[in-house]
Amino acid sequence: MDLPILVLPYSVSNQKEQYYQYFWDARNRIIEFTKKHNWSYYTTEPFIKHARIFDKKSDFDDELVKIFNLEPETVIPPTYCAILEKESLYIVTPEIYHSIYPEGHEIDSYVKLIVHEIAHHLHIRLLLGNEDSMGPIWFYEGFAIYVADQFSKIKNSLSNSEIKSILFDLQRTSYKKYKMLFEIVTGKIPLDKLVQKAKERDFSNWVYEKINEGK
Ligand SMILES: [Zn+2]
Repeated sequence: MDLPILVLPYSVSNQKEQYYQYFWDARNRIIEFTKKHNWSYYTTEPFIKHARIFDKKSDFDDELVKIFNLEPETVIPPTYCAILEKESLYIVTPEIYHSIYPEGHEIDSYVKLIVHEIAHHLHIRLLLGNEDSMGPIWFYEGFAIYVADQFSKIKNSLSNSEIKSILFDLQRTSYKKYKMLFEIVTGKIPLDKLVQKAKERDFSNWVYEKINEGK
């Protein structure tokens, strides 16, 4: 995996080294993670070939509208800060990321954000390109949060009814909750098995039964 070609806005153009360091660290974290899970095979090709940094959230939003061919009046969710699409990463600066998503602030949170985006694509590679098999939102977001080790200090405090609602509500909820749920689930079921089963229709049901087994 090589480092991407970077396009920086003028305001941070003197920080190129720092940005390369973020990408270098993110790359190493993915390599470490996949080694641990015997998934090194999936990291031989680079995930990010180009990276474009945005120093205004509105510019980032405009770019998303353009690359996804969205209606011009589309409102991009206020906490969307990064997206990896066709080996190009679009991402806001750390300053903007921390100001619009303070709850994600922790040590190395910007590197973790990059790892999170790569993790979605690792997930797709594990499914041999079958994006539709990534499973429900709690699972694929939980997977990326888990790979990136985001919210590493947060301990599980979910009640059984909260677990149920995260598993069965189709609405997005907070990433902190996905992190907590994912920790419970991976404590009971091996990650590779979860990745393979997530496409099944009764996946969330199956997970719910597994985590309640013996209770
Ligand atoms: Zn994500």
